[in-house]
Amino acid sequence: MLTSSTEFMWTDDKLVLASGNRGKLREFSKLFMDFGTDVIPQGDLHVESPEETGLSFIENALLKARHASAVTQLPALADDSGLVIPALDGAPGLCSARFAGSNASDQENLNLLLDRMKDLTGVDRRGNYICALALVRRATDPDPIVVIGRWHGHIIDSPRGEGGFGYDPIFLPHGLHQTAAELDSETKNQRSHRGLAVIKLRSLLS
Ligand code: IMP
Repeated sequence: MLTSSTEFMWTDDKLVLASGNRGKLREFSKLFMDFGTDVIPQGDLHVESPEETGLSFIENALLKARHASAVTQLPALADDSGLVIPALDGAPGLCSARFAGSNASDQENLNLLLDRMKDLTGVDRRGNYICALALVRRATDPDPIVVIGRWHGHIIDSPRGEGGFGYDPIFLPHGLHQTAAELDSETKNQRSHRGLAVIKLRSLLS
């Protein structure tokens, strides 16, 4: 696995993105444009999402990238992200999108988290958003590029702001007075776990 001190020569002209999210497609297309690489969403190549059976964000990102690469025979990039609260043993963690149930809305997930945290104060209200990115050159790549971005913050007890998604209205990033939902999207993208992971990935590709 490459670490942030190693550089890797990226020359492929096509890459499959193991996600159907349009915002992510835009962000990763921009990153790989500099390398002359077309980023194709996996849905356009009829790739269905695999079951996410990993125990960590890294494992799930790798599993999704390997699956997309196995189906398409192309290099593949995947991400996996979520919110981790150390005082809740890492919850919502890998279950961030379905914390309150498999079809739960962002609002239901956020309400459940506030309820679980109602007796927590001070440092116990700390939380980190995490984003793992995995890039494989082939499905069986023994040396994938994996990076992690972390955004440290604090969970406030009542939602503020209309922007972002997920847990953003209750996530107050360290050093800021606005929640992630009160930041404009450019500021959020520059500081967020995903933004940091993209910066790390860029610095590894030469
Ligand atoms: P995904 O892996 O990007 O689809 O994110 C999984 C889940 O983690 C989302 O459904 C959200 O609940 C949470 N999450 C990840 N990134 C963010 C973020 O930037 N803001 C708010 N919630 C997020």
